[in-house]
Amino acid sequence: MKMPKRFDFRAIEEKWLKKWEEWGVYRFDREDRDKPTYCINTPPPYPSGEFHVGNALNHSYIDFVARYKRMRGYNVLFPQGWDCHGLPTEVRVERAIGKSKSEVPKEYFYKLCVEFTKNWIKPMKEAIRRLGCSIDWTSEYETMNPDYWRRTQLSFIEMYRKGLAYRGVHPVHWCPRCETALAEAEVEYRAERRRLVYFKFKLEERGEITVASTRPELLVSCVSLLVHPEDNRYKNLIGKKAIVPLYNRVIPIIGDRDVDPEFGTGVVMVCTYGDKTDVRWQKKHGLPIIKGVDEKGRMTDNALEDLRGLTIVEAREKTILKLREEGLYVKEEGIVSNIGTCWRCHTPVEIIPKEQWFVKTIELREEIRKAADQIKWVPEYAKKRLLDWVESVDWDWPISRQRIFATPFPVWYCKNGHIIVADPSWLPIDPRRDKPPIDKCPQCGGEIYPETDVMDTWMDSSITAAVHAGWPDNVDERLFPADLQPNGYDIIRSWDYYLIVRGVALFGKPQFKVALINGMVRGTDGRMMHKSYGNYVSLTEVLDKYGADAFRLWAATSATTGQDVRFNWQLVDYCWRFLVKVWNAARLISIALEDYTPSKSVKVELRDVDHWILSLLDETIEAITDAFEKFDFQRAGSTIIDFFWHKLCDHYLEAVKYRIAGKDGEYREGAQFTLYHVLLNTLRMLSVFAPFITEEIYHILYSKHEPWKSITIAEWPEPMRIANKDRAKAGELIIDVIASIRRVKHDMKIALSAPISSVTIYAGPLKEIVGRGLEDIKGTLRIKELIVEDEGRGEHEVVDHPEITFSILP
Ligand SMILES: [Zn+2]
Ligand SMILES: [Zn+2]
Repeated sequence: MKMPKRFDFRAIEEKWLKKWEEWGVYRFDREDRDKPTYCINTPPPYPSGEFHVGNALNHSYIDFVARYKRMRGYNVLFPQGWDCHGLPTEVRVERAIGKSKSEVPKEYFYKLCVEFTKNWIKPMKEAIRRLGCSIDWTSEYETMNPDYWRRTQLSFIEMYRKGLAYRGVHPVHWCPRCETALAEAEVEYRAERRRLVYFKFKLEERGEITVASTRPELLVSCVSLLVHPEDNRYKNLIGKKAIVPLYNRVIPIIGDRDVDPEFGTGVVMVCTYGDKTDVRWQKKHGLPIIKGVDEKGRMTDNALEDLRGLTIVEAREKTILKLREEGLYVKEEGIVSNIGTCWRCHTPVEIIPKEQWFVKTIELREEIRKAADQIKWVPEYAKKRLLDWVESVDWDWPISRQRIFATPFPVWYCKNGHIIVADPSWLPIDPRRDKPPIDKCPQCGGEIYPETDVMDTWMDSSITAAVHAGWPDNVDERLFPADLQPNGYDIIRSWDYYLIVRGVALFGKPQFKVALINGMVRGTDGRMMHKSYGNYVSLTEVLDKYGADAFRLWAATSATTGQDVRFNWQLVDYCWRFLVKVWNAARLISIALEDYTPSKSVKVELRDVDHWILSLLDETIEAITDAFEKFDFQRAGSTIIDFFWHKLCDHYLEAVKYRIAGKDGEYREGAQFTLYHVLLNTLRMLSVFAPFITEEIYHILYSKHEPWKSITIAEWPEPMRIANKDRAKAGELIIDVIASIRRVKHDMKIALSAPISSVTIYAGPLKEIVGRGLEDIKGTLRIKELIVEDEGRGEHEVVDHPEITFSILP
């Protein structure tokens, strides 16, 4: 088989994708008990219809590890799931149909979510496939399927039975647009310019006190004023009472050391609830709760008659107007402060007390910390992000959502307040639709009615590692905890955190051993990539232009693990040019090997330059192996590029062309032997980054001689250790001499292929060594007469060896 002249990735990608699938080379072998296993907890993406370059960076990293481990002899499980449920999907469906969930029948909305999800998965799956990810597709799953429900529901039941999931009333973050509770991890803070309004409270006895607030509409639920106990302006007021403007409610003035006397007027109004500190103060001082804002973000009946039903913003305006009318308004100023918003629709969140299901994350805090210590974090600083988050979580994890498209709680209630949690044998079950096997409350015989809330999507995705290992039906202990947890740093506080919480709660250990954290892909302008910024690059566009291998090599080499990567077309182009170089070099080598019969042992005499490249190959194998063991893809990738391009192509190939062209059998075979093995071993390593081009070259040049069906499942190369150290050093010197003479030849404007009449090299004590490379120097540079002297000095120096000089006679 001859290699085509041009490297055309379009002609080979689909062919190999089909073959790999047909051969099942990436399938995890459950029956194999000999090989060690390596299990990856692949992040299941949200079906959105678009697999963007950020996802692709993450999946490339995972695939590098999977391919490397496979070649190292591991039985690798690289599964792929889809995290279907939840707000992201529902919000996208609402946008697509132009209606909110409450405007269409629930069953219909549910069906739409399933249909849209299926359609969104298709192009994403195709993108992952085209990227060349060595996924075992027989393991594919969707969290919206009843079989996955069953697992999520069982995990809930087990936590309920352990007392780690409970129902209770607690303030939760609430998105008034999505009309659902949110976990702390789902609240995104953004700085916003707001109005800080100053207004007066009258004191019960006499006098007044001025308060500054960004949320005067919350006077409806104002239950206390707080001042710092050492604030001379106010300390005599502690224990006295104030009157809430407009509402005329009498409230206590309390001293609290947490008040910042510098902010506003130094007086804080506590409302139930304006923010998380209100929640803390309400509890600490035993204050009443007055609900001022409802689930739709409108003022409740507790508000003044003409404010009821208004939106928060409307009520704010009207409250300010009323304060002016009453003569209580003082002034206002603009401030910039952080407000919490919904991660999906970016509406400011409210804090509302709700009866919800919770997971006891606060109680588990110490165990979560211990679990984080057992995990190896790559890069190390990722662990601090996790621990900082664990510290900052103030509340238990609210796991109920007032939505539709999610795993249902397997729960019913009776009128007497008893909670009926399904028996595991009833699962999967959707209480909103399915009748349970009982029709009366087992405790009181009363009527039962179903829970209509559904679970937070993270309840599905926080057991993936266990599910991949076969939980709960046939757990393969070898696969749990997972060996690798690969994800972006943006979901450390959600996915990593929840997996640890659930691992500790359900299994008493973390669900993974190593967390490999990748950075984000930024747009060409360095900002986060976003369609509205005009800096968005789609993966398909890159794959169409440059192919998967070039993208993958770019992903490997453009940043160190964990760092953000700026997308850069030039660098992708550079990687593509490298692959073209690989193709062209392989083609040259294929011609050189036309009459070669491979052999693993050296039957022929190798020259010093052969020893040089073989010894460099050994060093390269060792360096790349070390880099992969440390998940340092940038070093692995740039080491292989440097070796192939700047050692093998730039120097070695040039220095053996004359031997290949020559008739001398011994000279020729030494070069053929070296070329055969250097290229093969390099391709084996490169296949981790560039599986398509390496597979193609392997099948043209090598597959008839080598044992592997696919180069991507070849054994990882070991150093060949046939190079002699001294001879390799001599070879390096000869290569340097050739490079230096070539440079001068070029400077003298002599074509490289043109002959030179005479060159004299003054090598001093190195005369013997340089002399051994006489044929190489002569042959490569087409020198008619080459003399090596030990005494004298020429006008040119050899780079890195100034003790050697030479003269050229053109
Ligand atoms: Zn929302
Ligand atoms: Zn009951």
